[in-house]
Amino acid sequence: MPPFAIPEHKGCRNCGACCGIVPASKAEAEEIDAYLVSNPSAREVAIANIGKSVDCPFRDRISKQCAIYPVRPATCRLMGVARGLDCDYGNSAEIDGYAFLQDSYGDKTIVLNFQDWRIARPVQTNPQREKTRRSAKISKQERSHNA
Ligand code: SF4
Ligand code: SF4
Repeated sequence: MPPFAIPEHKGCRNCGACCGIVPASKAEAEEIDAYLVSNPSAREVAIANIGKSVDCPFRDRISKQCAIYPVRPATCRLMGVARGLDCDYGNSAEIDGYAFLQDSYGDKTIVLNFQDWRIARPVQTNPQREKTRRSAKISKQERSHNA
């Protein structure tokens, strides 16, 4: 989930016209990975879409729904509610979507369409948190060694 509130696009008709190339942050991709582990049918959608087109891999062509709707990236949530991310069914808010995407994604941007979603990947740990955890473990070992 993005760390801010995005208003709901009340006019969305789920037409799929905006479900093309989808940029996402690394954190969002990890959230999708975790979602696919407990929702294998969503992974099946991505597998069924392999080689079909440049549409988003999570657009279910049969049900015409987003297979990862609860964890869809901010890019998708901003369609129709942000300046510059226009929807044929109107924009319902005035958020500067591009400014947000540039600030939030930057060089960590990944593209959902170019990832291999066939297998579950281990959820990445936060490097800073991992470093802190390792330091705490070493200090504890040193304390017990010196006791
Ligand atoms: S935001 Fe607009 S373009 Fe995207 S699915 Fe909804 S109606 Fe279609
Ligand atoms: S993640 Fe869902 S809402 Fe976003 S582009 Fe893909 S199918 Fe559409």
